[in-house]
Amino acid sequence: MPEETSILLRMRGRVQGVGFRPVVFRLAHELELRGWVRNDAAGAEVALAGRAERIARFRAELPGRLPAAADIQSVEERPAPADFPAGFEIRTSATADGARVAGILPDLATCPDCLREIFDPRDRRYRYPFANCTHCGPRYSLIESLPYDRANTTMRGFRMCPACEAEYRDPRNRRFHAQPNACPVCGPSLSWTRADGTVLAEGDEALLAAAAALRDGKIAAVKGIGGFHLMAAARDAAAVRRLRARKKRDEKPLALMFPSLEAIRAACEVSEPERKWLESQAAPIVLLEKRAGAKDLADEIAPGLPWIGAMLPYAPLHHLLMSELGFPVVATSGNLTDEPICTDNDEARARLGEIADFFLMHDRPIARPMDDSVLAVCGGEPLMMRRGRGLSPHSLPLSGAPDGWVAAGAQMKSAVALTVGGNAVTSPHIGDLDHEGAARLWERAVADLTGLHGLKPVAAAVDLHPGYASTQGASAWGVPIAGVQHHHAHVAACMAENGLAGPVLGIAWDGTGLGTDGTIWGGEFLVCTRAEFRRVAWLRPFPLVGGDAAAREPRRAALGVLREMGSNHVPPGCSKAELSVLDGMLAEGFNVVRTSSAGRLFDAVASLLGVCQKMSHEGQAAMRLEALAGNMPAEAYPFAWSGDALDWGPMVSAMLSSGEPAALAAARFHATLAEMMVAAARRAGLRDVCLSGGCFQNRRLLATATKRLEEEGFRVGRHREIPPNDAGICLGQLAVAAARA
Ligand code: ZN
Ligand code: ZN
Ligand code: FE
Repeated sequence: MPEETSILLRMRGRVQGVGFRPVVFRLAHELELRGWVRNDAAGAEVALAGRAERIARFRAELPGRLPAAADIQSVEERPAPADFPAGFEIRTSATADGARVAGILPDLATCPDCLREIFDPRDRRYRYPFANCTHCGPRYSLIESLPYDRANTTMRGFRMCPACEAEYRDPRNRRFHAQPNACPVCGPSLSWTRADGTVLAEGDEALLAAAAALRDGKIAAVKGIGGFHLMAAARDAAAVRRLRARKKRDEKPLALMFPSLEAIRAACEVSEPERKWLESQAAPIVLLEKRAGAKDLADEIAPGLPWIGAMLPYAPLHHLLMSELGFPVVATSGNLTDEPICTDNDEARARLGEIADFFLMHDRPIARPMDDSVLAVCGGEPLMMRRGRGLSPHSLPLSGAPDGWVAAGAQMKSAVALTVGGNAVTSPHIGDLDHEGAARLWERAVADLTGLHGLKPVAAAVDLHPGYASTQGASAWGVPIAGVQHHHAHVAACMAENGLAGPVLGIAWDGTGLGTDGTIWGGEFLVCTRAEFRRVAWLRPFPLVGGDAAAREPRRAALGVLREMGSNHVPPGCSKAELSVLDGMLAEGFNVVRTSSAGRLFDAVASLLGVCQKMSHEGQAAMRLEALAGNMPAEAYPFAWSGDALDWGPMVSAMLSSGEPAALAAARFHATLAEMMVAAARRAGLRDVCLSGGCFQNRRLLATATKRLEEEGFRVGRHREIPPNDAGICLGQLAVAAARA
């Protein structure tokens, strides 16, 4: 008899809810090892007894056997327990002790096996909208607490039928310990209702009724994974206009769900990395270039823009609905503009009752709201605009901070983050805290993120802006608070993502953020370590009339730029009467701020070029300029240093006097900004340059700046996993706080 040995392994990472335990079970059986595997709050525990070389083979082979979604981040050896069972078993989860740091999985789009089943008339899940298995299905949207067991999910109320139970208990089955396992006999079901709650159809009839209504130009609210969508046929201009009017959404682009990749290709250009993202289990909205003459798409979907946001069906419900329809639908978040997405059936009927004609609902509760994620591909790599369903929660290694530090985030595009187990875990997109609903959701997101990990906030990192709801909210926790300057947080987020300690030259360009001198920053060049920063250069500041209105009216930025240059030029779109009022305010300094914001400089240029005078949504002027510039090659305009300020004056003069077509001027404007970055990088003399802030959602700006900086020998750190916009602020706040600790 060869010598036996035993060991206990504690594995951390994404090991729960991904079919990890069955893989361990099968491998242990093959190698004739005894012991058990179970989930614990930190990950999974594997006890093994048997011949030493078999245990070594187990450890060597396990990583290669793991399902795609699983990932072991660390393995810790512990003393083996005293007694072992006669075989190998899967045990129920250990109860929680200490911080719960097990990687929580995002929701996973339907896998090919489940897809085959729902379209197979012989399968017991034929046309079942809630089919899932260990390889796919909802996760984060239904987890209420850890460890990840059915009793801790919103599936708790559904008792598995004997057939489902048998699958759930069979280690050889794809649904072994699939926590949301369900079938038509025992699982969630559909209903088709009016806003007043009248049920018009149920089950498959409900789905067919929804398809008929959409075909007929109606607006349907459809409950999905992370909340409700508002849907309308994308080809039906009248329906899309009605949806816009009812949702109070003037021009902001609307996302589309297509029946298939082929349908997307018929409407848009799709590069290989874009295809991979579309078909990934995260199934985000991907911004794609629209093909000329694409059919089935009303002009009202993305007015004035050459891109559309496209996604593929990601739940069985969507697959069934889209295959009935065979054409794309608008699938926009079920909310009023800027409010959080609806998740609850009664709440949805109340809040969306004025928008949707009908509701396609189901009875599986949603644990937390999650909008669809949005990304673009830039330079072959992802550029996140919004992390939500499928890409949340997100976790990034961040050493130095003890568990329980919470970053409150910013005001717009807010998200919060928590330190746990040497990682920074970021919440899904919350929204703009100017809205009461989002502010409430922010409170919930903090409680949710900490509670899920068994923690309470022990310290907080916040923006310096005293008016941010996030800053105010954190002050109510009664814990030590660290203030982090907005643009330092942007750069620190980029440094954390790229694993840089600094010093780096951080280029933080966005709309607004409060500076340490009380003015509004937004075109900053900061020499940063994680803990500290020094402002070494900035875009020349200019006066802006009218507080919040200034951010919606590019002509106000244009006026400020012109008057700062000493020009009496009248910005386009300004009547004589308006002009004299605005000029009067400027002269008196009444309701005027000075800002170095790059975002407002974009607005000014958009106005001067006659591209956009009033914005219906944030970033609209910059998006139009980016679209106008296209891929046209262009030379930079002149610019100059004035002390530590980069002066755009020579650029604006050249632009106004040249009489060039607006598209060329827009392209030259982007080129000039990139040259300004190169000039500042040369002056700072640091090898690493980090690009962050909302302006770097602009792909032309990001690509041109990266290319030019790299040509000059700089190493460019850019965002890939974290949005460059204010959603990344929470991570930066934690990075700064951790470094100062
Ligand atoms: Zn599946
Ligand atoms: Zn069942
Ligand atoms: Fe910002």
